[in-house]
Amino acid sequence: MDTPHIDTAHAVNADAPDTDARPPLLVLLAAPRGFCAGVDRAIEIVERSLEKYGAPVYVRHEIVHNRYVVDSLKAKGAIFVEELDEVPDGVPVVFSAHGVPKSVPAHAEQRGLDYLDATCPLVSKVHRQAERQVEAGRHIVFVGHAGHPEVIGTFGQVPEGDMTLVETVEDVAKLEFAPGAELAFLTQTTLSVDDTHAILEALKARFPQIVGPKAEDICYATSNRQSAVKVLAPQVDLVLVIGGANSSNSLRLVEVAERLGTTARLIQRGEDIEEGWLHGVGAIGLTAGASAPEVLVREVIGRLSQFRCVEEQVVTTAEENMIFKLPRQLTD
Ligand code: SF4
Repeated sequence: MDTPHIDTAHAVNADAPDTDARPPLLVLLAAPRGFCAGVDRAIEIVERSLEKYGAPVYVRHEIVHNRYVVDSLKAKGAIFVEELDEVPDGVPVVFSAHGVPKSVPAHAEQRGLDYLDATCPLVSKVHRQAERQVEAGRHIVFVGHAGHPEVIGTFGQVPEGDMTLVETVEDVAKLEFAPGAELAFLTQTTLSVDDTHAILEALKARFPQIVGPKAEDICYATSNRQSAVKVLAPQVDLVLVIGGANSSNSLRLVEVAERLGTTARLIQRGEDIEEGWLHGVGAIGLTAGASAPEVLVREVIGRLSQFRCVEEQVVTTAEENMIFKLPRQLTD
């Protein structure tokens, strides 16, 4: 990890009472935090589709797991559905950043629907790896969370029965493969770096023949946000993570802080914060999952300022400059 860089503090406290004699509430802001390149791209795909095709544009599943983002796009004319059956003929449909099983674009083609794939390129990379491993005759052990759309999408890249899910080290102990079975592992992109490392070590110990990517497939954004929390958490009394309850990478940020012994709370909006949370708290670490926009970070700081005079410091643990290309339909 790079040496953390701490920016000069500045105070925001517009709403704090003048009579507040307590020391300011220190807010350490994680950097990087919030939107990643895959989320930026997915949102831009919906926005550009609305410009190009006009409303409504249908989106299969929440484009990213954030209510604020989804509601903003709804207000611009996007309609969110869970299955293609809910999309009428003749309108464009966007697939979410989490990726979809192969059957979904196949179904869209069958129906003659114009579809745009907002699957994050880092998820698509895992899809291609899955195909290649199965072509090479290997059974895949996939590390991920049951039911998450990314997991459903990745399982849908290979024939049924060619991939087995493990969620924990205990699951690895229960695996039953013939001795010498040809095996490969792959992982979801938004997992806990530490948990995944332990699961992969257990897999390699039980099945030394297993092959896989040199590094697990946890994406740069997930891993950078977790590293930032590891630096912040020991310095604060409370960590606030802005993110959806169904956002895997946001939930992992809460876990990272808690494992370091710091109380952590997942919040969606500033209004979720209760004044009682700040009793006895001198410093807060603030971060946002990869699907949470910066406007919510400002909203949270505004909310904290209603209770106490706030002093912000940015703690930079990594620089990010990843950008993903848009699909050709939107750039030609
Ligand atoms: Fe892509 Fe990672 Fe962002 Fe998911 S969290 S959209 S895998 S960059």
